[in-house]
Amino acid sequence: MRSFVPSEGYSEAKGMPVLRDLGTALVNGGAGFLGSHLCERLLLRGHSVICLDNFSTGRRANVEHLASNARFRIIEHDVRQPFDIETSLIFNFASPASPPDYQRDPVGTLLTNVLGAVNTLDCARKTGAIVVQSSTSEVYGDPTQSPQRESYCGNVNPIGPRACYDEGKRSAETLFFDYHRTYGVDIRVGRIFNTYGPRMRLDDGRVVSNFIVQALRNADLTIYGDGQQTRSFCYVDDLVEGFLRFSAAGSACHGPINLGNPGEFTVRRLAEIIRDLTNSRSRIVHLPAVVDDPRQRRPDISRAMTELEWQPRIELEAGLARTVEYFDGVLAGTARAEAV
Ligand code: NAD
Ligand code: UDP
Repeated sequence: MRSFVPSEGYSEAKGMPVLRDLGTALVNGGAGFLGSHLCERLLLRGHSVICLDNFSTGRRANVEHLASNARFRIIEHDVRQPFDIETSLIFNFASPASPPDYQRDPVGTLLTNVLGAVNTLDCARKTGAIVVQSSTSEVYGDPTQSPQRESYCGNVNPIGPRACYDEGKRSAETLFFDYHRTYGVDIRVGRIFNTYGPRMRLDDGRVVSNFIVQALRNADLTIYGDGQQTRSFCYVDDLVEGFLRFSAAGSACHGPINLGNPGEFTVRRLAEIIRDLTNSRSRIVHLPAVVDDPRQRRPDISRAMTELEWQPRIELEAGLARTVEYFDGVLAGTARAEAV
């Protein structure tokens, strides 16, 4: 049984020599927003890293700065097709995540989540790797309980426009737990609540990137619906830290575990905070509500606090300030990822 190894602090020096080889970690979706931060942290921690991606919503630019590292490799591949890679740790982060992205090709989204889970689990079964799934708060749908605990089974419309993603992620969780019960695969299922930070795309379509880019351009901030719906926003470094701890937790710890920041904000309040932070002249405008938009979302993170000794450290304003700085650089054409 693996012992609990708390991951390193955020202050670990970049470029520090690696003192021990922790084996190869495979990151499906490693060229995406979250996946690229994860690749970076895994390299710093002492892993060799393989980034597997089909570059549908991710970008080579997100991992370009890692290319000169001898322990980093990119494989262009679609998780809907089987793969066989020698590895001891797999993170399955391959799936479009922004509603406009995942609704553009709903069948492709569902298949990415279902076939991607099967192919990832088959790879883990062959290699004996620990396999970590990026699940989502969307498994709770439009929740009738708040905060959402892991024991809540959710309220998902199975035939609506969000279902390709929600039901895809729910099916993936089912596959993870069935592979664990049937074949003894060592799984970890983390349910991510809205996470933001540098390397989101300008045109990603999610609320944080939309509002920041609109505010920096002094364009209207577009609230869908009345703006009273709530979300809980987690900064990317906190989220990645949670996943690293989860991957290193003992093999009795399979989850599901909520990973997110319990601070809850209305979308209206988020717009006001971002407008203030950017000193923007933007107006706040209301557009029609989107179908099946969850009214509230807030994680109960007691399980993560107890089992992983994890909780977010970065407050919304501080995380938004870093993200604003990033988008400012992108709009000015000066943003650059740092080499690891
Ligand atoms: P993202 O779109 O930036 O990253 C997804 C990555 O997966 C991209 O690099 C994309 O090219 C790749 N990908 C998509 N389909 C693929 C396929 N069929 N084969 C191979 N690669 C494929 O999104 P993200 O925000 O970084 O999300 C990463 C993961 O975390 C996703 O699984 C998402 O569902 C989950 N998640 C994210 C959030 C969040 O707030 N960011 C919340 C809940 C869950
Ligand atoms: N939203 C909004 N304006 C935007 C983008 C999103 O008001 O420009 C709202 C959206 O309707 C939802 C919330 O912000 O209520 C979060 O949306 P996002 O797409 O970021 O993530 P979700 O939690 O819906 O997956």
